[in-house]
Amino acid sequence: MKQNLTISEVRKDLRNKEYTSYELTQYYLDQIKKSDLNAYITVCEDKALEAAKIADEKIANGEDRPLLGVPLAIKDLYCTKGIKTTAASKMLENFVPEYESTVTQNLLDDGAVFLGKTNMDEFAMGSANVTSYFGECYLPYRKKSAPDQKLVPGGSSGGSAAAVAADLCVSSTGSDTGGSIRQPAAFAGLVGIKPTYGLCSRWGMVAFASSLDQAGPIAKNVEDAAIMLKSMASYDEKDSTSEKVDIPDYTSFLGQSIKGLRIGIAKEYIQDLSEEQLKILEQTKNWLKDAGCEMVDISLKTTPYALPAYYIIAPAEASSNLARYDGVRYTHRAEHYNNIEELYINSRSEGFGEEVKRRILTGTYVLSAGYYDAYYNKALKIQKMIKDDFKNNAFSKVDLVLTLTTPSTAFAVEEIEHMSPVEIYLNDIFTVNANIAGLPAMSVPAALSKDGLPMGVQLIGNRFREGDIFKAAHVIEQSANFGELRRQILRG
Ligand code: GLN
Repeated sequence: MKQNLTISEVRKDLRNKEYTSYELTQYYLDQIKKSDLNAYITVCEDKALEAAKIADEKIANGEDRPLLGVPLAIKDLYCTKGIKTTAASKMLENFVPEYESTVTQNLLDDGAVFLGKTNMDEFAMGSANVTSYFGECYLPYRKKSAPDQKLVPGGSSGGSAAAVAADLCVSSTGSDTGGSIRQPAAFAGLVGIKPTYGLCSRWGMVAFASSLDQAGPIAKNVEDAAIMLKSMASYDEKDSTSEKVDIPDYTSFLGQSIKGLRIGIAKEYIQDLSEEQLKILEQTKNWLKDAGCEMVDISLKTTPYALPAYYIIAPAEASSNLARYDGVRYTHRAEHYNNIEELYINSRSEGFGEEVKRRILTGTYVLSAGYYDAYYNKALKIQKMIKDDFKNNAFSKVDLVLTLTTPSTAFAVEEIEHMSPVEIYLNDIFTVNANIAGLPAMSVPAALSKDGLPMGVQLIGNRFREGDIFKAAHVIEQSANFGELRRQILRG
Protein backbone atom coordinates (compact mmCIF):
# COMPACT_ATOMS: atom_id res chain seq x y z
CA MET A 1 0.00 0.00 0.00
CA LYS A 2 1.13 3.56 -0.69
CA GLN A 3 2.38 5.42 2.39
CA ASN A 4 1.32 8.73 3.85
CA LEU A 5 -1.78 9.07 1.71
CA THR A 6 -3.76 12.29 1.88
CA ILE A 7 -7.52 12.61 1.52
CA SER A 8 -7.38 13.87 -2.05
CA GLU A 9 -4.97 11.09 -3.06
CA VAL A 10 -7.26 8.46 -1.52
CA ARG A 11 -10.30 9.90 -3.27
CA LYS A 12 -8.50 9.80 -6.60
CA ASP A 13 -7.07 6.30 -6.09
CA LEU A 14 -10.43 4.86 -5.01
CA ARG A 15 -12.06 6.23 -8.12
CA ASN A 16 -9.24 4.88 -10.29
CA LYS A 17 -9.63 1.50 -8.59
CA GLU A 18 -5.98 1.42 -7.48
CA TYR A 19 -7.22 -0.20 -4.29
CA THR A 20 -10.56 -0.43 -2.50
CA SER A 21 -11.57 1.31 0.69
CA TYR A 22 -11.79 -2.17 2.21
CA GLU A 23 -8.16 -2.90 1.35
CA LEU A 24 -7.03 0.49 2.60
CA THR A 25 -8.97 0.08 5.84
CA GLN A 26 -7.51 -3.39 6.33
CA TYR A 27 -4.03 -1.95 5.73
CA TYR A 28 -4.49 0.69 8.43
CA LEU A 29 -5.95 -1.86 10.87
CA ASP A 30 -2.85 -4.02 10.34
CA GLN A 31 -0.57 -1.03 10.85
CA ILE A 32 -2.40 -0.10 14.06
CA LYS A 33 -1.94 -3.65 15.36
CA LYS A 34 1.78 -3.53 14.63
CA SER A 35 2.26 -0.11 16.20
CA ASP A 36 3.47 0.34 19.79
CA LEU A 37 2.65 4.07 20.00
CA ASN A 38 -0.63 3.53 21.91
CA ALA A 39 -2.35 6.05 19.65
CA TYR A 40 -5.76 4.35 19.84
CA ILE A 41 -7.87 3.50 22.87
CA THR A 42 -10.45 1.57 20.84
CA VAL A 43 -10.09 0.09 17.37
CA CYS A 44 -13.39 -0.70 15.64
CA GLU A 45 -12.20 -3.36 13.27
CA ASP A 46 -15.52 -4.92 12.26
CA LYS A 47 -17.45 -1.68 12.00
CA ALA A 48 -14.64 -0.09 9.98
CA LEU A 49 -14.47 -2.95 7.48
CA GLU A 50 -18.25 -2.98 7.16
CA ALA A 51 -18.31 0.78 6.52
CA ALA A 52 -15.49 0.42 3.98
CA LYS A 53 -17.41 -2.28 2.13
CA ILE A 54 -20.48 -0.04 1.92
CA ALA A 55 -18.28 2.84 0.70
CA ASP A 56 -16.83 0.61 -2.03
CA GLU A 57 -20.33 -0.25 -3.22
CA LYS A 58 -21.27 3.40 -3.33
CA ILE A 59 -18.14 4.28 -5.26
CA ALA A 60 -18.93 1.48 -7.72
CA ASN A 61 -22.39 3.04 -8.13
CA GLY A 62 -20.81 6.36 -9.01
CA GLU A 63 -21.59 8.13 -5.74
CA ASP A 64 -19.32 11.00 -4.88
CA ARG A 65 -18.95 12.40 -1.40
CA PRO A 66 -16.04 14.35 0.10
CA LEU A 67 -14.82 11.56 2.40
CA LEU A 68 -16.31 8.48 0.77
CA GLY A 69 -14.25 5.48 1.86
CA VAL A 70 -11.58 7.56 3.65
CA PRO A 71 -10.35 5.94 6.91
CA LEU A 72 -10.21 8.44 9.79
CA ALA A 73 -9.27 8.40 13.48
CA ILE A 74 -11.65 10.03 15.96
CA LYS A 75 -10.59 11.58 19.27
CA ASP A 76 -12.16 9.59 22.06
CA LEU A 77 -14.30 12.47 23.30
CA TYR A 78 -16.72 12.45 20.38
CA CYS A 79 -19.71 10.33 21.28
CA THR A 80 -19.96 7.61 18.66
CA LYS A 81 -23.10 5.49 18.60
CA GLY A 82 -22.40 1.94 19.70
CA ILE A 83 -18.66 2.60 20.07
CA LYS A 84 -17.05 3.05 23.48
CA THR A 85 -16.31 6.70 24.27
CA THR A 86 -14.06 7.10 27.29
CA ALA A 87 -12.52 10.61 27.18
CA ALA A 88 -9.47 8.59 28.37
CA SER A 89 -10.97 8.35 31.85
CA LYS A 90 -11.66 5.41 34.11
CA MET A 91 -14.90 7.25 34.83
CA LEU A 92 -16.16 6.48 31.32
CA GLU A 93 -14.26 3.24 30.79
CA ASN A 94 -17.40 1.36 29.83
CA PHE A 95 -19.52 4.13 28.37
CA VAL A 96 -21.11 3.27 25.03
CA PRO A 97 -23.15 6.22 23.73
CA GLU A 98 -26.56 5.68 22.23
CA TYR A 99 -26.12 8.65 19.95
CA GLU A 100 -23.64 10.15 17.51
CA SER A 101 -22.07 13.58 18.01
CA THR A 102 -22.99 16.12 15.35
CA VAL A 103 -19.40 16.42 14.10
CA THR A 104 -18.89 12.67 13.69
CA GLN A 105 -22.35 12.35 12.12
CA ASN A 106 -21.31 15.00 9.58
CA LEU A 107 -18.18 12.99 8.77
CA LEU A 108 -20.20 9.78 8.43
CA ASP A 109 -22.71 11.56 6.19
CA ASP A 110 -19.79 12.52 3.97
CA GLY A 111 -18.81 8.86 3.69
CA ALA A 112 -15.92 8.55 6.20
CA VAL A 113 -14.82 5.24 7.67
CA PHE A 114 -13.93 5.33 11.39
CA LEU A 115 -10.94 3.18 12.29
CA GLY A 116 -11.22 3.84 16.01
CA LYS A 117 -11.02 6.25 18.90
CA THR A 118 -7.75 7.92 19.72
CA ASN A 119 -5.88 8.34 22.96
CA MET A 120 -5.96 11.72 24.69
CA ASP A 121 -5.39 13.41 28.01
CA GLU A 122 -8.12 12.54 30.49
CA PHE A 123 -11.15 14.75 29.75
CA ALA A 124 -8.84 16.72 27.41
CA MET A 125 -6.89 18.17 30.33
CA GLY A 126 -3.19 18.15 29.60
CA SER A 127 -0.43 18.93 27.15
CA ALA A 128 1.39 15.64 26.74
CA ASN A 129 -1.15 12.80 26.66
CA VAL A 130 0.29 11.53 29.94
CA THR A 131 -2.90 12.00 31.98
CA SER A 132 -4.73 9.31 29.98
CA TYR A 133 -6.10 6.41 32.04
CA PHE A 134 -5.13 4.22 29.09
CA GLY A 135 -1.46 5.10 29.24
CA GLU A 136 1.01 7.34 27.50
CA CYS A 137 1.16 7.70 23.77
CA TYR A 138 4.22 8.44 21.64
CA LEU A 139 5.36 10.20 18.52
CA PRO A 140 7.00 8.14 15.79
CA TYR A 141 10.04 10.49 15.95
CA ARG A 142 13.12 10.83 18.14
CA LYS A 143 15.42 13.73 19.00
CA LYS A 144 18.78 13.54 17.28
CA SER A 145 20.50 14.31 20.58
CA ALA A 146 18.61 11.65 22.57
CA PRO A 147 17.48 8.87 20.25
CA ASP A 148 16.66 6.55 23.16
CA GLN A 149 14.03 8.80 24.66
CA LYS A 150 10.40 8.37 23.69
CA LEU A 151 8.69 11.65 22.84
CA VAL A 152 5.16 12.64 23.81
CA PRO A 153 2.86 13.80 21.02
CA GLY A 154 1.56 16.79 23.00
CA GLY A 155 -1.97 16.98 24.20
CA SER A 156 -4.71 16.71 24.72
CA SER A 157 -5.32 15.36 21.18
CA GLY A 158 -2.06 13.39 21.39
CA GLY A 159 -3.40 10.12 20.00
CA SER A 160 -4.92 11.86 17.00
CA ALA A 161 -1.60 13.56 16.22
CA ALA A 162 0.41 10.35 16.74
CA ALA A 163 -2.02 8.38 14.54
CA VAL A 164 -1.71 10.83 11.65
CA ALA A 165 2.07 11.29 12.05
CA ALA A 166 2.69 7.53 12.12
CA ASP A 167 0.33 6.98 9.17
CA LEU A 168 -2.16 4.94 11.19
CA CYS A 169 -5.06 6.75 9.46
CA VAL A 170 -5.49 9.28 6.67
CA SER A 171 -6.63 12.13 8.90
CA SER A 172 -8.11 12.71 12.34
CA THR A 173 -10.29 14.85 14.56
CA GLY A 174 -9.17 16.67 17.68
CA SER A 175 -10.67 19.17 20.05
CA ASP A 176 -9.17 22.38 21.34
CA THR A 177 -10.01 24.19 24.58
CA GLY A 178 -6.65 25.89 25.07
CA GLY A 179 -4.44 24.48 22.34
CA SER A 180 -5.17 20.76 22.19
CA ILE A 181 -5.33 20.63 18.40
CA ARG A 182 -2.57 23.09 17.60
CA GLN A 183 0.07 22.01 20.12
CA PRO A 184 0.02 18.29 19.18
CA ALA A 185 -0.10 19.27 15.50
CA ALA A 186 3.02 21.40 16.02
CA PHE A 187 4.84 18.63 17.91
CA ALA A 188 3.98 16.09 15.24
CA GLY A 189 4.69 18.24 12.17
CA LEU A 190 1.05 18.33 11.10
CA VAL A 191 -1.62 20.89 10.30
CA GLY A 192 -4.24 21.52 12.99
CA ILE A 193 -6.96 24.14 13.04
CA LYS A 194 -9.22 25.29 15.83
CA PRO A 195 -12.00 27.13 14.03
CA THR A 196 -14.00 30.12 15.25
CA TYR A 197 -16.03 29.30 18.35
CA GLY A 198 -19.47 28.28 17.08
CA LEU A 199 -18.42 26.93 13.65
CA CYS A 200 -18.51 23.25 14.69
CA SER A 201 -21.24 21.92 16.91
CA ARG A 202 -20.22 20.80 20.38
CA TRP A 203 -23.21 18.50 20.64
CA GLY A 204 -22.09 15.02 21.63
CA MET A 205 -18.55 16.05 22.50
CA VAL A 206 -17.59 15.26 26.10
CA ALA A 207 -17.51 18.75 27.61
CA PHE A 208 -14.43 20.22 29.27
CA ALA A 209 -14.91 24.01 29.27
CA SER A 210 -17.98 24.71 27.16
CA SER A 211 -17.25 28.37 26.37
CA LEU A 212 -13.82 27.45 24.97
CA ASP A 213 -14.18 23.92 23.50
CA GLN A 214 -14.08 23.64 19.71
CA ALA A 215 -13.78 20.72 17.32
CA GLY A 216 -11.26 20.68 14.49
CA PRO A 217 -9.05 18.44 12.37
CA ILE A 218 -5.43 17.30 12.64
CA ALA A 219 -4.25 16.56 9.13
CA LYS A 220 -1.22 15.73 7.00
CA ASN A 221 -1.47 18.95 5.02
CA VAL A 222 -3.42 22.16 4.62
CA GLU A 223 -5.67 20.74 1.92
CA ASP A 224 -6.74 17.80 4.10
CA ALA A 225 -7.44 20.20 6.98
CA ALA A 226 -9.64 22.23 4.62
CA ILE A 227 -11.59 19.15 3.48
CA MET A 228 -12.02 17.89 7.05
CA LEU A 229 -13.14 21.25 8.44
CA LYS A 230 -15.73 21.75 5.73
CA SER A 231 -17.17 18.36 6.58
CA MET A 232 -17.06 18.81 10.37
CA ALA A 233 -18.61 22.30 10.48
CA SER A 234 -22.36 22.87 10.52
CA TYR A 235 -25.04 24.92 12.16
CA ASP A 236 -26.72 22.82 14.81
CA GLU A 237 -29.78 23.79 16.78
CA LYS A 238 -28.80 21.24 19.43
CA ASP A 239 -25.86 23.49 20.40
CA SER A 240 -27.06 26.91 21.54
CA THR A 241 -23.66 28.46 20.77
CA SER A 242 -23.62 27.15 17.20
CA GLU A 243 -23.60 29.99 14.66
CA LYS A 244 -25.53 30.18 11.42
CA VAL A 245 -22.85 31.19 8.94
CA ASP A 246 -21.86 30.31 5.41
CA ILE A 247 -19.42 27.42 5.37
CA PRO A 248 -17.31 27.87 2.26
CA ASP A 249 -15.32 25.21 0.45
CA TYR A 250 -12.06 25.90 2.29
CA THR A 251 -10.00 24.20 -0.42
CA SER A 252 -11.02 27.06 -2.73
CA PHE A 253 -8.70 29.35 -0.73
CA LEU A 254 -5.63 27.26 -1.44
CA GLY A 255 -3.48 28.80 -4.12
CA GLN A 256 -5.35 32.11 -3.98
CA SER A 257 -3.10 35.14 -4.07
CA ILE A 258 -2.24 36.60 -0.68
CA LYS A 259 -0.95 39.81 -2.17
CA GLY A 260 -1.89 42.68 0.12
CA LEU A 261 -2.82 40.44 3.06
CA ARG A 262 -1.64 42.18 6.22
CA ILE A 263 0.10 40.01 8.80
CA GLY A 264 0.63 41.28 12.34
CA ILE A 265 3.57 40.35 14.53
CA ALA A 266 2.78 41.16 18.15
CA LYS A 267 5.83 42.06 20.18
CA GLU A 268 4.40 40.34 23.27
CA TYR A 269 4.63 36.99 21.47
CA ILE A 270 8.28 37.26 20.53
CA GLN A 271 9.81 38.66 23.71
CA ASP A 272 11.20 35.45 25.15
CA LEU A 273 11.90 33.46 22.01
CA SER A 274 15.20 31.67 21.45
CA GLU A 275 17.47 32.50 18.54
CA GLU A 276 16.31 29.40 16.71
CA GLN A 277 12.65 30.30 17.21
CA LEU A 278 13.20 33.88 16.06
CA LYS A 279 14.93 32.58 12.96
CA ILE A 280 11.96 30.41 12.07
CA LEU A 281 9.55 33.27 12.56
CA GLU A 282 11.77 35.50 10.42
CA GLN A 283 11.92 32.84 7.73
CA THR A 284 8.12 32.54 7.74
CA LYS A 285 7.76 36.32 7.50
CA ASN A 286 10.03 36.31 4.48
CA TRP A 287 8.01 33.59 2.73
CA LEU A 288 4.84 35.57 3.32
CA LYS A 289 6.49 38.83 2.22
CA ASP A 290 7.74 37.18 -0.95
CA ALA A 291 4.15 36.17 -1.68
CA GLY A 292 3.08 39.80 -1.37
CA CYS A 293 1.95 40.10 2.26
CA GLU A 294 2.53 43.21 4.26
CA MET A 295 4.11 42.73 7.70
CA VAL A 296 2.83 45.01 10.44
CA ASP A 297 4.25 45.36 13.96
CA ILE A 298 1.46 45.33 16.49
CA SER A 299 1.12 45.16 20.25
CA LEU A 300 -1.38 43.02 22.15
CA LYS A 301 -0.86 44.13 25.72
CA THR A 302 -3.30 41.67 27.26
CA THR A 303 -1.29 38.66 26.03
CA PRO A 304 0.39 37.84 29.38
CA TYR A 305 -2.99 37.68 31.13
CA ALA A 306 -4.49 35.03 28.88
CA LEU A 307 -2.87 32.01 30.52
CA PRO A 308 -3.85 32.90 34.11
CA ALA A 309 -7.38 33.76 32.96
CA TYR A 310 -7.59 30.45 31.07
CA TYR A 311 -6.53 28.44 34.11
CA ILE A 312 -9.40 30.01 36.06
CA ILE A 313 -12.16 29.94 33.43
CA ALA A 314 -11.42 26.43 32.12
CA PRO A 315 -11.30 24.70 35.54
CA ALA A 316 -14.38 26.66 36.67
CA GLU A 317 -16.41 25.36 33.75
CA ALA A 318 -14.87 21.90 34.07
CA SER A 319 -15.86 21.64 37.72
CA SER A 320 -19.45 22.31 36.72
CA ASN A 321 -19.40 20.07 33.60
CA LEU A 322 -17.83 17.15 35.46
CA ALA A 323 -20.38 17.27 38.29
CA ARG A 324 -22.57 14.95 36.22
CA TYR A 325 -20.17 12.04 36.73
CA ASP A 326 -21.64 10.91 40.02
CA GLY A 327 -21.34 7.13 39.92
CA VAL A 328 -25.10 6.77 39.67
CA ARG A 329 -25.78 6.64 35.95
CA TYR A 330 -23.45 5.73 33.10
CA THR A 331 -20.15 6.25 34.88
CA HIS A 332 -17.76 4.27 37.01
CA ARG A 333 -19.42 3.22 40.28
CA ALA A 334 -17.42 2.34 43.39
CA GLU A 335 -17.95 -1.14 44.70
CA HIS A 336 -17.89 -0.15 48.35
CA TYR A 337 -20.08 2.52 49.93
CA ASN A 338 -22.45 2.77 52.87
CA ASN A 339 -24.63 5.65 51.82
CA ILE A 340 -25.30 7.93 48.85
CA GLU A 341 -22.64 10.45 49.84
CA GLU A 342 -20.00 7.75 50.00
CA LEU A 343 -21.19 6.47 46.62
CA TYR A 344 -20.45 9.89 45.11
CA ILE A 345 -17.17 10.36 46.95
CA ASN A 346 -15.77 6.91 46.30
CA SER A 347 -16.88 6.76 42.66
CA ARG A 348 -15.37 10.17 41.90
CA SER A 349 -12.20 9.48 43.90
CA GLU A 350 -11.63 6.26 41.97
CA GLY A 351 -12.91 7.39 38.59
CA PHE A 352 -10.97 10.63 38.11
CA GLY A 353 -7.21 10.94 37.71
CA GLU A 354 -4.97 13.40 39.51
CA GLU A 355 -5.02 16.22 36.93
CA VAL A 356 -8.80 16.10 36.59
CA LYS A 357 -9.15 16.28 40.37
CA ARG A 358 -6.78 19.26 40.44
CA ARG A 359 -8.95 21.08 37.90
CA ILE A 360 -12.18 20.25 39.76
CA LEU A 361 -10.68 21.54 43.00
CA THR A 362 -9.36 24.72 41.36
CA GLY A 363 -12.65 25.30 39.60
CA THR A 364 -14.75 24.75 42.69
CA TYR A 365 -12.50 27.09 44.64
CA VAL A 366 -12.65 29.98 42.15
CA LEU A 367 -16.43 29.63 41.94
CA SER A 368 -16.98 29.47 45.70
CA ALA A 369 -18.96 32.31 47.30
CA GLY A 370 -15.92 33.85 48.98
CA TYR A 371 -13.62 33.82 45.94
CA TYR A 372 -15.95 34.22 42.97
CA ASP A 373 -15.29 37.95 42.64
CA ALA A 374 -11.60 37.69 43.39
CA TYR A 375 -10.92 35.05 40.73
CA TYR A 376 -13.71 34.01 38.41
CA ASN A 377 -15.25 37.42 37.83
CA LYS A 378 -11.82 38.94 37.32
CA ALA A 379 -10.93 36.26 34.78
CA LEU A 380 -14.13 37.05 32.86
CA LYS A 381 -13.16 40.74 32.81
CA ILE A 382 -9.76 39.79 31.45
CA GLN A 383 -11.47 37.68 28.81
CA LYS A 384 -13.41 40.76 27.68
CA MET A 385 -10.17 42.80 27.59
CA ILE A 386 -8.43 40.15 25.48
CA LYS A 387 -11.32 40.08 23.01
CA ASP A 388 -11.26 43.89 22.74
CA ASP A 389 -7.49 43.89 22.38
CA PHE A 390 -7.66 41.56 19.35
CA LYS A 391 -10.48 43.63 17.89
CA ASN A 392 -8.94 47.06 18.40
CA ASN A 393 -5.22 46.39 18.18
CA ALA A 394 -5.02 43.48 15.78
CA PHE A 395 -7.94 43.11 13.41
CA SER A 396 -8.45 46.84 12.89
CA LYS A 397 -4.98 46.84 11.32
CA VAL A 398 -4.22 43.34 10.06
CA ASP A 399 -5.91 40.25 8.62
CA LEU A 400 -3.87 37.65 10.49
CA VAL A 401 -1.58 37.45 13.50
CA LEU A 402 1.53 35.28 13.14
CA THR A 403 3.11 33.61 16.19
CA LEU A 404 4.91 30.42 17.06
CA THR A 405 2.54 27.65 18.16
CA THR A 406 4.49 26.32 21.13
CA PRO A 407 7.34 27.50 23.33
CA SER A 408 9.24 24.24 22.72
CA THR A 409 9.39 21.21 20.48
CA ALA A 410 8.09 17.81 21.63
CA PHE A 411 9.50 16.74 24.97
CA ALA A 412 10.48 13.34 26.28
CA VAL A 413 8.39 11.39 28.76
CA GLU A 414 11.32 11.68 31.21
CA GLU A 415 11.27 15.45 30.90
CA ILE A 416 7.60 15.78 31.69
CA GLU A 417 8.00 13.71 34.83
CA HIS A 418 10.11 16.53 36.27
CA MET A 419 7.75 19.32 35.33
CA SER A 420 5.33 20.90 37.82
CA PRO A 421 1.71 21.37 36.74
CA VAL A 422 2.37 25.08 36.21
CA GLU A 423 5.39 24.36 34.00
CA ILE A 424 3.17 22.13 31.91
CA TYR A 425 0.45 24.82 31.76
CA LEU A 426 3.04 27.23 30.33
CA ASN A 427 2.98 25.16 27.14
CA ASP A 428 -0.31 26.80 26.27
CA ILE A 429 1.08 30.32 26.41
CA PHE A 430 0.69 31.02 22.66
CA THR A 431 -2.50 29.05 22.07
CA VAL A 432 -5.02 29.91 24.82
CA ASN A 433 -5.54 33.48 23.60
CA ALA A 434 -7.43 32.32 20.52
CA ASN A 435 -9.77 30.19 22.65
CA ILE A 436 -10.40 33.00 25.09
CA ALA A 437 -11.23 35.36 22.23
CA GLY A 438 -13.16 32.69 20.25
CA LEU A 439 -10.92 33.24 17.21
CA PRO A 440 -9.85 30.72 14.56
CA ALA A 441 -6.20 29.65 14.71
CA MET A 442 -4.09 27.11 12.88
CA SER A 443 -0.72 25.53 13.46
CA VAL A 444 1.22 24.81 10.31
CA PRO A 445 4.63 23.14 10.19
CA ALA A 446 7.39 25.56 9.28
CA ALA A 447 10.74 23.86 9.91
CA LEU A 448 12.74 21.26 11.75
CA SER A 449 14.68 22.22 14.86
CA LYS A 450 18.43 21.63 15.18
CA ASP A 451 17.47 18.49 17.06
CA GLY A 452 15.45 17.24 14.11
CA LEU A 453 11.97 17.92 15.50
CA PRO A 454 9.05 19.72 13.85
CA MET A 455 8.31 23.34 14.73
CA GLY A 456 4.97 24.95 13.94
CA VAL A 457 3.88 28.51 13.42
CA GLN A 458 0.42 29.75 14.30
CA LEU A 459 -1.90 31.94 12.27
CA ILE A 460 -4.72 33.59 14.22
CA GLY A 461 -7.55 35.05 12.14
CA ASN A 462 -10.57 37.23 12.71
CA ARG A 463 -13.90 35.58 13.49
CA PHE A 464 -15.07 33.28 10.68
CA ARG A 465 -12.13 34.31 8.50
CA GLU A 466 -10.78 30.76 8.29
CA GLY A 467 -10.31 31.41 4.56
CA ASP A 468 -7.52 33.95 5.24
CA ILE A 469 -5.79 31.38 7.43
CA PHE A 470 -6.01 28.66 4.78
CA LYS A 471 -4.64 30.98 2.09
CA ALA A 472 -1.59 32.00 4.10
CA ALA A 473 -1.01 28.54 5.58
CA HIS A 474 -0.88 27.08 2.09
CA VAL A 475 1.87 29.53 1.15
CA ILE A 476 3.84 28.60 4.29
CA GLU A 477 3.40 24.91 3.55
CA GLN A 478 4.60 25.29 -0.03
CA SER A 479 7.58 27.40 1.01
CA ALA A 480 8.62 25.08 3.84
CA ASN A 481 8.28 21.99 1.64
CA PHE A 482 7.42 20.27 4.85
CA GLY A 483 6.11 17.08 3.24
CA GLU A 484 9.66 16.28 2.21
CA LEU A 485 11.03 17.23 5.64
CA ARG A 486 8.52 14.94 7.30
CA ARG A 487 9.54 12.06 5.11
CA GLN A 488 13.10 12.74 6.22
CA ILE A 489 12.33 12.62 9.94
CA LEU A 490 10.23 9.51 9.57
CA ARG A 491 13.16 7.81 7.86
CA GLY A 492 15.31 8.92 10.83
N1 GLN B 1 -3.30 22.04 27.68
C1 GLN B 1 -4.52 22.74 27.95
C2 GLN B 1 -5.14 22.22 29.22
O1 GLN B 1 -4.60 21.35 29.79
C3 GLN B 1 -5.43 22.68 26.77
C4 GLN B 1 -6.31 21.51 26.74
C5 GLN B 1 -7.26 21.51 25.58
O2 GLN B 1 -7.17 22.34 24.68
N2 GLN B 1 -8.21 20.61 25.63
O3 GLN B 1 -6.13 22.68 29.65
